[in-house]
Amino acid sequence: MHFHILTLFPEMVLNGLGTSITGRAMANNLLSVEAVNIRDYANNKHNRVDDYPYGGGAGMLMQAEPVYGAYRAVEDSIQERTGKEGRTRVVYLSPQGGTFSQSMAEEFAKEEDLILLCGHYEGIDERVLEEIVTDYVSIGDYVLTGGELPAMVIVDAVSRLIPGVLHNDTSAEFESFQDNLLEYPQYTRPASFMEREVPPILLSGNHPKVEEWRRQQSILRTMERRPDLMEKAELTKQDIKFIKSLDK
Ligand code: SAM
Repeated sequence: MHFHILTLFPEMVLNGLGTSITGRAMANNLLSVEAVNIRDYANNKHNRVDDYPYGGGAGMLMQAEPVYGAYRAVEDSIQERTGKEGRTRVVYLSPQGGTFSQSMAEEFAKEEDLILLCGHYEGIDERVLEEIVTDYVSIGDYVLTGGELPAMVIVDAVSRLIPGVLHNDTSAEFESFQDNLLEYPQYTRPASFMEREVPPILLSGNHPKVEEWRRQQSILRTMERRPDLMEKAELTKQDIKFIKSLDK
C-alpha cells in the first residue's frame, strides 16, 4: 500500500513513521510513505503558502493553489504508475470529520493508494477541499496544531492490517474492537508478581477453556469500560447466555 502525505512538515511524518514496525514495513517494501512538501508548490518567490482569511478573524489559512498543486502532482504520479484513471481517495485530517475508528482503518486498508492532507494554522481554503477531498477524518474531539500527528495515527492503524506488517498476522485479528469488543487481559512471566497471580486457567493448557475465559473477559471488560460498544457487539448465543448468567 502507498501512503502519500501532503504536509508542510515532511520530516515530522517521515521521522515518526520511519521507526519501529512501520519503518520495518517500509524497509521490507510492504508499504511506502511519500511525504510531499506543500511549500514546494508555492507560486511566489518567498514560498508563502498562507494568507489572511477573507472577512477577517484570527490566524492564517493555507492557500488553495499550493495544496492543489501538491495533490495534482501526487495524483498524476499515481495514475502514471497504476495506469488507472479513477480518482484516489483523499483524506483531509480535520477536527470537523467523523471520528477515526478501527472499521475506517479496515476500509482504508483496501485502497492501493491513499492521500492524506494535513492542514496547519487555521486550516485550508474551503474551495480546494471541495475540489479534492473525499473523506474528512478527525482523531478525536480536540484541536491540534496540525494534521501530521493524525495522519501518522491513520498510517499506523492501517499499516497493522496489511499482511506481513505484523510478525504474526493473527495478532491484528484478535485485538480490541474485533466484534466491537475490547481485548481480554493478558499476562506474561513471571506467574506471580507482587502477590498477584496469573489466572490459573491460562496455565491449564486447556485451549478451549482458555478461549472461553478470554471471550468472557472481553465481554466483562467491554461492559465495564466501554458500555457504549455493547450495543454494536457481535455476540454469539453462548455470549448472550454468559451475560444472562451474570444477573443471577
Ligand atoms: N480552525 C480549524 C477548526 O476549528 O476546525 C482547526 C484548525 S487546526 C488548528 C489545524 C489543522 O490541524 C487542521 O487543519 C487539521 O488538519 C489538523 N487537526 C487539528 N485537530 C485535529 C483533529 N482532532 N483531528 C484531525 N486533524 C486535526
